[in-house]
Amino acid sequence: MPELPEVEAWRRALDEPVSAFPIVKAGPAHVATLKTFDPPLSALEGRRLSGAERRAKRLLFPTDDGELVVLVHLMTAGRLRYLQFGERGPKTPAFRLVFEGGSQLVLTEAGAKKRAGVWLLNPEEAEQELAHLGPDALGLGAERLAAICSEESRRLHSMLRDQRVMSGIGRAWANEILHHAQLSPYELTRDLTTDEVERLAEAIDSELTRGLELRERGANDKRTYRVHDKLGEPCYVCGTPIARVDFEEHTIYYCPECQTGGRILKDRRLSRLLR
Ligand SMILES: [Zn+2]
Repeated sequence: MPELPEVEAWRRALDEPVSAFPIVKAGPAHVATLKTFDPPLSALEGRRLSGAERRAKRLLFPTDDGELVVLVHLMTAGRLRYLQFGERGPKTPAFRLVFEGGSQLVLTEAGAKKRAGVWLLNPEEAEQELAHLGPDALGLGAERLAAICSEESRRLHSMLRDQRVMSGIGRAWANEILHHAQLSPYELTRDLTTDEVERLAEAIDSELTRGLELRERGANDKRTYRVHDKLGEPCYVCGTPIARVDFEEHTIYYCPECQTGGRILKDRRLSRLLR
């Protein structure tokens, strides 16, 4: 699933083009993609978007009159593309906005399952829809992170991915961040020393920033990730082969030398069965 760096790179790329011209045609939308019916999509026609915003892993496109917000969650396989007039696009996009002059914003989703969503909301409804999300992970800082860590004791990998606690990080960037911070994914939040909290806060910012810079230049997953999905490849710090462990419904990648003092993490799903 695209996370903060990926979605923020798209936001920056879309911000200017989507606000250049008013919308002349909104829709059609796939029945599974459009999550709201009132107001109808046609309410967007004749209005202009003020740009692209991001909240956690979602994109928001408010109208410049302040009355409506198009909220988009791309989930795993959804992609938004801005097409110039005449540029070929998909025959049946999951969602489409056509702008004056013929350029388009189209949402496509690979695979048969339609999981990406589009909501057309008024600003109060949009606020409610996003109210459960914690502060943006980028720029969180050591002080707020320390407060979060002291609230409840839980494993770092799962805390980083909890959108109610901080928003924008998923399993890929949790792997990258914990490796950079040289912390075990299984370490408990309350066991962190002040130094470790500071290291983690620094790792969140530097890894998300590194990811954003790479994604803005169009880098693919293989070039962007250094730990995630790199089983058996040498750690970029110490050369130890990257290890993998299954945890809850996720797979974690880590370096046993840099992060766990040489220990191989046990599969928690398996050990639960054997207990
Ligand atoms: Zn290492």
